[in-house]
Amino acid sequence: MTKKRIGLTTTVPHEIIVAAGCVPVDLNNVFISAADRLAWLERAENEGFPAGICAWIKGIYAAVRAGCVDAVVTVLTGDCTNTRALAEVLRHRGVATIPFDFPSQPEPAAVRQSLEDLAARFAVSLQQAEQVRRQWIPLRRNLAELDRLADQEGRVGSAELHQWLVSASDFNGDAERFAAELGDFLSAVARRPILPPAVRLALLGVPPIFENLFAALEERGARVVFDEVPRQFAMPYDCADLVEQFCRYTYPYDSTPRLADLRREVDRRRIRAALHYLQAFCHRQIEHIIIRESLPVPVLALEGDRPGPLTGQTLTRLDAFLEMLL
Ligand code: SF4
Repeated sequence: MTKKRIGLTTTVPHEIIVAAGCVPVDLNNVFISAADRLAWLERAENEGFPAGICAWIKGIYAAVRAGCVDAVVTVLTGDCTNTRALAEVLRHRGVATIPFDFPSQPEPAAVRQSLEDLAARFAVSLQQAEQVRRQWIPLRRNLAELDRLADQEGRVGSAELHQWLVSASDFNGDAERFAAELGDFLSAVARRPILPPAVRLALLGVPPIFENLFAALEERGARVVFDEVPRQFAMPYDCADLVEQFCRYTYPYDSTPRLADLRREVDRRRIRAALHYLQAFCHRQIEHIIIRESLPVPVLALEGDRPGPLTGQTLTRLDAFLEMLL
């Protein structure tokens, strides 16, 4: 029997979806890796999405309209202010949606309730999802090793780190294959030369929509050794259970746990400076005020709108920022 494909508007406990015998599909990754992603944005706009709405939302909508999933888990709190309206439009188009809410605080009882609610919607128990979590412990440890190799040994490039971590939100729909491919990658990395020294950067914020950011950084002698939000998606740490795993996940909550994570990692990884990616028309841009004023390193805000290369103006700002660090 063909497994149901469940689209995700952001990272959720996909252990629950897999426990239910379904395939998780991160719609952000489908959109950004689609060859005709710009045409998808036009399609969403032709169907009525305003130009002044974030491209990721339009991309998610277009990915669903392209028929890649059977239903969509829509995260209504803890992610994006646009998702509630997106969910309504999807239902209006006849797409089944499954709501999920992160609690307002990473408080264990509240997180457990959120996870149990989602499990109930998939007709599985949290214990069944825990079995999947336990199966994935070696995989999460390998993601931690990837992160360590990037940070401590200079063996993983910025784009490689980003691609592996961002793909961990759904393990590309096949955790077994993902684990095997990651294991092969780590073995290959161990055999290849260490990368040249580079300015150690943190990349903060939602995944950049630029196509050449990492190449541009490395051409200029800089490397991302801390990729904040994709690392959060990957959850590369040992936990006692799913409740702890999702209490430690900083993305859905207010800035307090996030800043604690950022300060710790900036210090621990000897970060020289941070790039804060801001998506055009995203409410999260406002968080830049707190980030800029709370970190002990220089922070450059980079704004992007649609998929494509960095603009000349952005490259000029990046050059000036990196020159200041050298
Ligand atoms: S970038 Fe911001 S506005 Fe766009 S989908 Fe993500 S949270 Fe929503």
